[in-house]
Amino acid sequence: MQILVTGGTGYIGSHTCVSLIEAGHSVIIADNLSNSRYEVVSIIEQITGQRVIFYEVDVTEEAAIAEIFSKHKIDGVIHFAGLKSVGESVEKPLLYYKNNLLSTMILTDACIKYGVNRFVFSSSATVYGENDVPFEESMTLKPTTNPYGETKVMSERILTDVVQSNPELGVMLLRYFNPVGAHESGLIGEAPNGIPNNLMPFVTQVAKGKLPKLHVFGDNYPTVDGTGVRDYIHVVDLAEGHVTAIEQVTRGVRIYNLGTGRGTSVLELVKTFEEANNIEVPYEIIERRLGDIASCYANVKKAKKELGWVAKRDLIAMCKDSWHFEKK
Ligand code: NAD
Ligand code: UDP
Repeated sequence: MQILVTGGTGYIGSHTCVSLIEAGHSVIIADNLSNSRYEVVSIIEQITGQRVIFYEVDVTEEAAIAEIFSKHKIDGVIHFAGLKSVGESVEKPLLYYKNNLLSTMILTDACIKYGVNRFVFSSSATVYGENDVPFEESMTLKPTTNPYGETKVMSERILTDVVQSNPELGVMLLRYFNPVGAHESGLIGEAPNGIPNNLMPFVTQVAKGKLPKLHVFGDNYPTVDGTGVRDYIHVVDLAEGHVTAIEQVTRGVRIYNLGTGRGTSVLELVKTFEEANNIEVPYEIIERRLGDIASCYANVKKAKKELGWVAKRDLIAMCKDSWHFEKK
């Protein structure tokens, strides 16, 4: 198939482009490079031996999207393009609502106009809010605490409504847990601008000496050691989950958790990182971060049963590959 990958030069998108090409599909990327680099296009070629078609466009621009759809025969869309910083979304809610909602609306509209019936959307475990773990797809969603999370809830709703009135359309809503790690080549990975918000990039930068120590946000949660528990998933597993999803889209809306089903505390992750890479990560416990929940991990039975997809890579591989990328 020929797949349009929005946000394809970003962290998860670039790994997914590699996995799509390895599975025999061809890729068109649409990205405005607001949080990624053009060089990624060449790196994808270096890894796979294939050059993707690249458009530097903003997917909220209707005319630019129409041009791509009219020029190419597109079989499916994987929509990663979006802004993802929780903190920034609180400061700039309109930027987030505009970017993340308009992009979804313009792309689905183009799909309907051009008869493209496969659509995979990057949702997030954040839509579950403060539910009981493990999170299951059938749960009633609880309000999230920030505009970023709300853009995911609203996008899911928009896509569900659009499918209701366009029954030939097939949409998969993929709820990611915590993607970490990098391609084994160490050539693509997560390279946040400035001081990282997320745990793993912070840990790798402390290990490298770019930052003096990790601040662990709270040790009094009701978890195994009091620190926050998350379901870390290797980004290559996540990428492979997208290949499976786009290949298996059928009419209607289907929702899947993409996680490992295992919860890991902050201190467990730090310890595994230190042991896997034989390097020290100094840390200090500080107060809780506003808006954080204690535990977040997936029930992964549905993806296994219906898609035949499971995450294969363990936390040691995630820690090793993250460190390999940071060093490179
Ligand atoms: P990323 O920032 O690395 O990639 C997103 C890409 O989209 C970037 O290359 C950016 O330049 C591009 N982009 C943003 N707005 C655009 C626009 N209007 N037009 C064109 N391109 C645009 O982020 P990521 O971690 O790869 O995340 C991809 C998707 O997965 C996002 O929708 C994100 O919300 C979602 N998600 C990410 C995580 C995570 O922890 N990384 C977790 C759950 C969901
Ligand atoms: N965390 C931390 N220090 C950091 C960044 C994160 O202790 O510098 C903790 C955070 O409180 C949470 C876990 O690590 O329990 C994962 O945080 P991240 O921001 O990576 O993911 P999210 O909270 O969005 O699931």
